[in-house]
Amino acid sequence: MKDWKSNKIVDIKKYFENSLTTIYSIGETQSIFKILIESKLGLSQKDLIINPDLKISESEVLQIQFALKRLLKNEPIQYILGETQFFDLKIKVTPSVLIPRPETEELVNWVLEDVKVSSQVSILDACSGSGCIAIALKSNLPNAKITGVDISKEALSIAKQNAQLNKVIIDFVEDNMLDSTMKERYEIIVSNPPYVSREEAIQMQDNVLKYEPHLALFPESEDVLIFYKSIFKFALKSGSKWVYFEINQYKEEELINWLKLENVTDFTFKNDISGNLRFLKISF
Ligand code: GLN
Repeated sequence: MKDWKSNKIVDIKKYFENSLTTIYSIGETQSIFKILIESKLGLSQKDLIINPDLKISESEVLQIQFALKRLLKNEPIQYILGETQFFDLKIKVTPSVLIPRPETEELVNWVLEDVKVSSQVSILDACSGSGCIAIALKSNLPNAKITGVDISKEALSIAKQNAQLNKVIIDFVEDNMLDSTMKERYEIIVSNPPYVSREEAIQMQDNVLKYEPHLALFPESEDVLIFYKSIFKFALKSGSKWVYFEINQYKEEELINWLKLENVTDFTFKNDISGNLRFLKISF
């Protein structure tokens, strides 16, 4: 097998993919390589096709080797690069925030389907993490007043940097959504709170479990629905009209029982693009 020495990008690609298929599927490996060369070398797939003999510099080879070493320890590519794409926006990520998922783009899309572009609506992103939801919403609803809330100081610092990076104004506030003291009125609340149960951790992949913040994944309670219950109560107090949640696909029954208990009749579940139950909208 060819190794790094030729400095030819196609040889490096082969070596990289062969090494990384020990822990990722070939599809994932190819997409990681694509993201890596785009971010580090400014090269696209097209560049490789047009110029198969393309050679890269020694320092560029070293950068790829270094990234591969970290990838082989299950570190997510997004943390290695310190950034990712969300809703066509560049979002900075560190291990203090969850890596934005494509499902969450669908959550943002659902809100945007319901709200007029010119609307001056006030929106709260509860448990805002990297700020990706709030920033994607503000980028598409320029007149909306958007607030992001998180309990983590580190996450809030990243979210503020992301708002600046994407040139949008969002009010980021430190608060605990399980015991919020905020008094403002938010017509819409959007939330992707921690919703993974400890039992599910056994099936989770190492790249998530070893690197992503457990504070953002697992509610620190026996009750895995605790954030939904708390945010719903807050929405009632706040006089909200709509709440949009990203949900755990295995908790449909528990969620329905809870909605019944709260006498909520106007609600809609929605599947994600993979066909898994993933979103819940409550109208008041
Ligand atoms: N969907 C994420 C995952 O599968 C979890 C997101 C969350 O807990 N809010 O890891």
